[in-house]
Amino acid sequence: MEIKHNLDQIRATLAPDVRLIAVSKTKPAEAVREAYEAGQRAFGENKVQELMRKIDQLPADIEWHFIGNLQRNKVKYLDERIHLIHSVDRISLAQEIDRQARKKGYIQNILLEVNIGREENKGGALPEDLPELTAAVRELPGLHVKGLMTVIPETEDEAEQRAWFQAMQELFRKEKAKEGPRYEMEILSMGMSGDYQTAMACGSTMVRIGSAIFGARDYSANTSLSAGDPAEV
Ligand SMILES: *Cc1c(COP(=O)(O)O)cnc(C)c1O
Repeated sequence: MEIKHNLDQIRATLAPDVRLIAVSKTKPAEAVREAYEAGQRAFGENKVQELMRKIDQLPADIEWHFIGNLQRNKVKYLDERIHLIHSVDRISLAQEIDRQARKKGYIQNILLEVNIGREENKGGALPEDLPELTAAVRELPGLHVKGLMTVIPETEDEAEQRAWFQAMQELFRKEKAKEGPRYEMEILSMGMSGDYQTAMACGSTMVRIGSAIFGARDYSANTSLSAGDPAEV
């Protein structure tokens, strides 16, 4: 009930042509199903094991997005049911995704993640490292680059949010001029529960919204989702 209500409210505020990814991380499969029954088809997860488990439990026409920090040794557990990996931020990771995808016989859609706020301990390539990353990725036949993704620094200051999003919009525009085979700039993935309206005003084409749909996440709870894979907590 509540999930449907939240989804309806968010949909009413989405700019045309902006896609909504419902971020279901830490939430049980039943919550995903509730959103699915309210018509939502694209979901985002940030842990490999949790994602693969939900894929097996839930309807096959769901479009799954991997949005979290991805360790190279976990890539082998992914498969062609992953519609888009948002968080490719280094060459070694891109190479492993390419290798696994080709081995399994598909091309993986990816976004390049940018750490626009230059925060330590945060995923994403620094803007100045993007040329080297894109040059390497373009050579990998198992990958199809669809655009860029970012998580901006946490702030409630809307002017500050806008400055980060605009910096991303500028990068996106520059990369768009370099489009080529398997290197397209269609998707600019930015904006979360607290800032997606600002992100849309700055050219976001894909927003990733979790808590505003599913409610606050409880990381302290010993849910079945994190149990069994201590390495992923
Ligand atoms: C958790 C998460 C989101 C959603 O965050 P909310 O604030 O709950 O909307 C979006 N993007 C990424 C990469 C996340 O990890």
